[in-house]
Amino acid sequence: MNDPAAPSTSAMLAAGMRGLCPRCRRGRLFSGFLKVADRCPACGLDFSGHDAGDGPAVAAIFILGFGVTGLAGFVEYLFAPPMWLHALLWLPLIGLGAVGLLQPLKGLTIALQYRFRAVDEPGRLGGT
Ligand SMILES: [Zn+2]
Repeated sequence: MNDPAAPSTSAMLAAGMRGLCPRCRRGRLFSGFLKVADRCPACGLDFSGHDAGDGPAVAAIFILGFGVTGLAGFVEYLFAPPMWLHALLWLPLIGLGAVGLLQPLKGLTIALQYRFRAVDEPGRLGGT
């Protein structure tokens, strides 16, 4: 980035994962659980063009799918519990994991869009 005052890429992505504006890292990125605010309340960055689409959900499915499948296989191999116990263990983990992962992954996606200029911003000059 040409702006020496701009935060580093890792700082932008970390801010996005914490639900903060990737530019100023102070204003809230979300106005609801998964609803992106129209603009940053701290610096005024317009979030209206940022659309994470299905990316965060797909990432959460991959993370939870591989993680829970591995854990379930490991537990089955070690203890061979009945299927109802598997359901009791893994269904809440999947549900809570999805709730816990979706907002950070959506914030990360929006921070990536901001960092790599995937969205046109009026007043922001092109180039990297
Ligand atoms: Zn901001």
